[in-house]
Amino acid sequence: MGKPEHAAAGETRRMTLGENCRMTLGVIADDFTGATDVASMLVRAGMRTVQVIGVPDDGVQVDADAVVIALKTRTVPAADAVRESLAALRWLQAAGMRQCYFKYCSTFDSTAAGNIGPVTEALMQALGADFTIACPAFPENGRTIFRGHLFVGDELLSDSGMRHHPLTPMTDANLVRVLQAQCERRVGLLRYDLIAQGAAAVRERIAALRADGITLAVADAVDNDDLRVLADACADLPLLTAGSGLALGLPAVYAERGWLVPDADAAALDAAAGAGALLAGSCSLATNAQVQRWQQAGRPALAIDPRALARGEPVAADALRWAQSQPPDQAVLIYATAPAADLQAVQAELGAQRAGALVEDCLAQIARGLVAQGLRRLVVAGGETSGAVVQALAVRQLRIGAAICPGVPWTQAEGRPADDPLHLALKSGNFGGPDFFAEALHRANGT
Ligand code: ADP
Repeated sequence: MGKPEHAAAGETRRMTLGENCRMTLGVIADDFTGATDVASMLVRAGMRTVQVIGVPDDGVQVDADAVVIALKTRTVPAADAVRESLAALRWLQAAGMRQCYFKYCSTFDSTAAGNIGPVTEALMQALGADFTIACPAFPENGRTIFRGHLFVGDELLSDSGMRHHPLTPMTDANLVRVLQAQCERRVGLLRYDLIAQGAAAVRERIAALRADGITLAVADAVDNDDLRVLADACADLPLLTAGSGLALGLPAVYAERGWLVPDADAAALDAAAGAGALLAGSCSLATNAQVQRWQQAGRPALAIDPRALARGEPVAADALRWAQSQPPDQAVLIYATAPAADLQAVQAELGAQRAGALVEDCLAQIARGLVAQGLRRLVVAGGETSGAVVQALAVRQLRIGAAICPGVPWTQAEGRPADDPLHLALKSGNFGGPDFFAEALHRANGT
């Protein structure tokens, strides 16, 4: 397979903003691990993808077919989410983006005030877009949309665990109604039976909706074929809004239009070295199971006690000493992960916010210390935890490698010497099977 025309073989390709940058897709993601998730999907289909953390400064260099800007706008006030998303849009426009993609969670996580609706409407206005879709479906992870209703596995969204989410409880599975409550525009529906008729039928229906004054529609999707049809039908829209699932169909459509030459090596990262370490700050069921599996296998693991942190004990320094005392070829796990009952007890004692901040800060310090000790491979479990670690390591750009499991790729921090790369795997709490940690280390080179 050939390289994109702007990617002369063997040459180091660096383009400065404002030069003739040929980025095909610009993604604005409303949270950190969600950004990694969509980036992983694009890489899988042959797009060279870089994730940037926050809106980059003007003049920052970019070298990719797709750039994913990771924001933290899911639960902030709607006006802040709109402002930051528009700033991200301006950067992507300056970088020559052909199509824009607003990425949110596959469970449509939003508050009563938004932010999916207000951000979508602001982006549409700024882009002059007269139609877009909303499609959080991710069938591979059990998120499907049927007649406008979102299912999580076999349950309606409103019957799933999402109804109890502490920040974005989702108590209505009817996405047309949910989105309409957040929007001034009228919201319509692109139904599954229409999508089954193919891209031309969807385009026709979009034209009819537009004629009726409907400029935003929830799109049904029950499998990957539906997402591919939608990607094809919507490739010429200036804006798409979706979970990560829709991204799987886009590279092939771009290639058909001659906007992209898929790169078989899109996931290639520089070779990683060393044993690596695992830092777990998620208390999700999945991460609890992963920590347990690691311990059951007799591998080195050290628990972080939030109460010791609250007492001001040197927990991070002790953990770093412990890590250094382990055999150098053995990866270590340092975790704050706790079962729900223990977590609740600590939160009741210290306050949920304070306990969370203490733990995040400690794991971030440990990450910095481990890298200072020479470690070059880190697996981090937890969305907020990943954000804290990446910030502590002053990483601003990540090149996206191969997936360890759906939604979690190895990544490589940009801006470091090629012979001394730093690799990070950043896992959203609930992702991955029980053996995720061992699998991640096994696939150390991102290949
Ligand atoms: P997830 O992706 O599972 O939501 P996050 O890292 O986003 O994981 O969030 C987990 C939060 O819980 C973080 O703020 C983390 O610091 C906090 N936390 C982790 N372990 C504990 C613990 N034992 N006690 C209190 N808070 C904790």
